[in-house]
Amino acid sequence: APTILWLRRDLRLGDHPALTAACKSGGPVIPVFIHDDPVAGLGAAPKWRLGLGLEYFARALEGKGSRLILRRGEALQVLRDLVRETGARRVLWTRLYDPDAMARDKAVKAALKGDGIDARSFGGHLLFEPWTVETGQGGAYKVFTPFWNAVKRREVAPPLPAPSRIPAPDRWPVSDDAGDWRMGAAMRRGADVVRPHVQLGESAAQSRLGAFMAHKVADYGRMRDVMAEDGTSRLSENLSLGEISPHQCWHAGLRAREEGKAGAETFLKELVWREFAYHLMYHTPRILHGNWREEWDAFPWNERETGAVMRWKQGRTGIGMVDAAMREMYVTGRMHNRGRMIVASFLTKHLLTHWRIGLHWFGDCLIDWDPASNAMGWQWSAGSGPDATPYFRVFNPDTQLDKFDPDRRYLRRWIAEGQCTPPDTALSYFDAIPRRWGLSAADGYPAPVIALDEGRKRALSAYGARNF
Ligand code: FAD
Repeated sequence: APTILWLRRDLRLGDHPALTAACKSGGPVIPVFIHDDPVAGLGAAPKWRLGLGLEYFARALEGKGSRLILRRGEALQVLRDLVRETGARRVLWTRLYDPDAMARDKAVKAALKGDGIDARSFGGHLLFEPWTVETGQGGAYKVFTPFWNAVKRREVAPPLPAPSRIPAPDRWPVSDDAGDWRMGAAMRRGADVVRPHVQLGESAAQSRLGAFMAHKVADYGRMRDVMAEDGTSRLSENLSLGEISPHQCWHAGLRAREEGKAGAETFLKELVWREFAYHLMYHTPRILHGNWREEWDAFPWNERETGAVMRWKQGRTGIGMVDAAMREMYVTGRMHNRGRMIVASFLTKHLLTHWRIGLHWFGDCLIDWDPASNAMGWQWSAGSGPDATPYFRVFNPDTQLDKFDPDRRYLRRWIAEGQCTPPDTALSYFDAIPRRWGLSAADGYPAPVIALDEGRKRALSAYGARNF
């Protein structure tokens, strides 16, 4: 009997435990992607990127004699329909860990089992299942370093090979047309600007990993903070949709470490930051919407769309480092990690604005959007998260500029105003942003939305006045 493989954020053929199990079952395999409410609710850039990922993955499946069936609707209903139409006896998928997906998957599993279907979930999105990492006292970790120490020497299963062929059914169930889903609708003109920066699909992800290990990892510890350098792996885009597995990245990192490449340990640690984010989200799901430390609910962050917030979103705060990073995001769909920390600190501290506004904005703009890493990053920056930056640490964007972009290459790459011959990267910001913002390079560069000193003092006094 056929096996239905329900795909979500695992758009790859290699190291795919659920796919491997489906192929081993002996019968035909029917891969399906379901456009349900969580997909409908994605932000503009993540949804567009997912649409591209699905198109690519459908072709990859065709290369294995298979297909990707697309269906729209409520997941359980769609799966039941497919079971009925195909006579499938098994439904397999890779686990996700955000609370909405977990609630949905649990209900789907129970209902399908009730129908007599073998419904099973597999690992693959993470190195360590969140419930398998516990402190000495048996609880969840709240601080990164002990978490790292707890997992760094664990055995991580070697990656599974891709199947050479995926058994196909005699007759395929009907599929939606990918174009009808209009996954890129909300991206509007930004799509044309970001598209050249996308590295789509499993083979591009593998090349990225290979190139990083061959040329970059040795210097990664030093270069990962130099904002004008392409010193990091950029794998977050692919990890987010499972176009590469964390196991594949981990084993490549281990090999690099064995070869004595200095930055390999730091790379492994960064992969574990991703794990830590998932650990936090699994054990404290409110991290996605509310303060991880609940006492922060009393903190008087602004939650309105003020003019200053708008200027932050537009990359027109008049603070070079903040604007450069925001503009990098519009043009490339991603932002340097240091940029993320700087703009998040600026929004939550200098502008005393709730981190949730920034979290949602990133969720609309990032092609590497990840629910857990985004939430952890924002709460770390705001000070409301576990293991967060202390409240008195207010990043000074000018000092950061001097330290991490000393020759201003990053700044010039992204900010056109004030340059006689701005590079295309800086000009394309004006092609990427919404027309309704009505901005052009001719407007000139704005004066600072707030004096850095004043913003810092205001932040310190608000943070210092907390009575918790
Ligand atoms: P590399 O430096 O090459 O690191 C390798 C991998 O390790 C990354 O691909 C990523 O999976 C993981 N990693 C590295 N740093 C972190 C980190 N700080 N937290 C969690 N995982 C990490 N990352 C996302 O993937 N999606 C997000 O939506 C996201 N939002 C963020 C929001 C804020 C406010 C902050 C401060 C950070 C956010 N990050 C997010 C984390 C980090 O900025 C990115 O993972 C990193 O910039 C990705 O670039 P890279 O792949 O070149 O990373």
